[in-house]
Amino acid sequence: MMLAVQDLEVRYGGITAVRGVSIEVAEGETVLLVGANGAGKSSLINAVIGLVPASRGSVRFAGADISAMSCDGRARAGMGYSPEGRRVFATMSVADNVLSGACGRGGAAQREAWSWLCGLFPILQERADQPAGQLSGGQQQIVALARAMSSFPKLLLLDEPFLGLAPVWIAQISEAIRHMQKRGTTILVTEQMARPALSLATRGYVLRSGEIRRSGTASEIRDVALAEEYL
Ligand code: ATP
Repeated sequence: MMLAVQDLEVRYGGITAVRGVSIEVAEGETVLLVGANGAGKSSLINAVIGLVPASRGSVRFAGADISAMSCDGRARAGMGYSPEGRRVFATMSVADNVLSGACGRGGAAQREAWSWLCGLFPILQERADQPAGQLSGGQQQIVALARAMSSFPKLLLLDEPFLGLAPVWIAQISEAIRHMQKRGTTILVTEQMARPALSLATRGYVLRSGEIRRSGTASEIRDVALAEEYL
């Protein structure tokens, strides 16, 4: 199993955001975590990458228990992460934003990542020297995704990649995710917008109030996932 989260709990003071959740992601799969605002999707994914501590439970990655590992350590071990709200470094150039995801790797690996990503997203080349904060929302999401992809992660964690984007950008981001799938990348993606996300996923979990309501193949969870979208 590439990722195995067992009985995970995330608390913020008196608020329990994730309650005893267990999920698994096998190598090569794309798994969707779907749920309304506040369902606990970000808390779960942030606990997987190590940005928030778990108050209970464990996270295993490629067979090893990484529950005590730092966020940096998890990134070095092969996790790539694109946060919710397409957070880019606004004053840094587009190229530096993208390559910040591959820092710690050699120059040759960085050049390989950059030319591959520019082939996928010509906008990166066109805007390479421009501060990322000047780009449109859709373009910033491309930058955030490219940053997460630039280390060629084994596991790509995407937190609401479609949030607030126009259909044309949703199509582009979906296409990029398909490229990662073709490379054999394992993906865990959260979304409120179930429809476009379901078309990318092999399996999924529907989260509600920090708990799993339904799990199964994309077609098995479809009805519950779509209903949840309108809560
Ligand atoms: P969204 O789409 O709004 O990000 P989500 O499904 O990702 O929703 P979370 O962001 O994980 O959900 O939030 C789950 C619950 O935890 C919510 O009730 C939220 O208010 C609460 N929460 C999240 N972050 C914090 C925090 N830093 N401090 C206190 N409560 C928090």
